[in-house]
Amino acid sequence: MNKIKILVVEDDAPVRSLITMTLKANDYAFVTAAGGEEAVQEAASHNPDIVLLDLGLPDIDGVEVIGRIRSWSNMPIIVISARSEDTDKIRALDAGADDYLTKPFSVDELLARLRVTQRRLALLASAGAGGESVYVNGQLRIDYAAGCVTLGGEELHLTPIEYKLLCLMASNTGKVLTHTYITQRVWGSSWENDIASLRVFMATLRRKLESGPDAPQYIQTHVGVGYRMLRVE
Ligand code: CA
Repeated sequence: MNKIKILVVEDDAPVRSLITMTLKANDYAFVTAAGGEEAVQEAASHNPDIVLLDLGLPDIDGVEVIGRIRSWSNMPIIVISARSEDTDKIRALDAGADDYLTKPFSVDELLARLRVTQRRLALLASAGAGGESVYVNGQLRIDYAAGCVTLGGEELHLTPIEYKLLCLMASNTGKVLTHTYITQRVWGSSWENDIASLRVFMATLRRKLESGPDAPQYIQTHVGVGYRMLRVE
């Protein structure tokens, strides 16, 4: 069986070895880079399945690394940032990162994020050339051609904006989408008002979609960042 290969980009040697030891113990293959330029080169020469990218690098900015990789590849990128770099994290997601981890993180968190990304990769592979006309996730089913959404066989009555929002989340299952990204795609702009509206529409969508407000099954909130559609088993 081919191991999943991870490119670990981290200039801090102790953190880097903690990550690589974790990967090794969990049967992942890996390559490492200690700076941004090296990261771009390693990404091109090894074509890893997933990139773990520290944002605070000594040579070039992590966000620029994402931009360069995104100019030729959609490989999943999980950024690692310190708590003080919250705005960098959002810039990184807007630049095309898939997910993030905040330092200090536990080994379990790291492995959980990798599993989410692997499920996303598997989903993309099974979707093949895309153009799927039906989306199924747990009890949720979206029939794009009919514009119809059902939950456990019952039709959900969504407003046009709720439907657009749900389709956007569904087509990015597993990926964290920022408030800016979502509002730009749903409203075509990203003003403060749009972000406030997004919260309102998201709340009404979730009331229809989730069985209880305390345990959201489908849409996860990332406070101050955005939302993620989860893959439901
Ligand atoms: Ca660093």
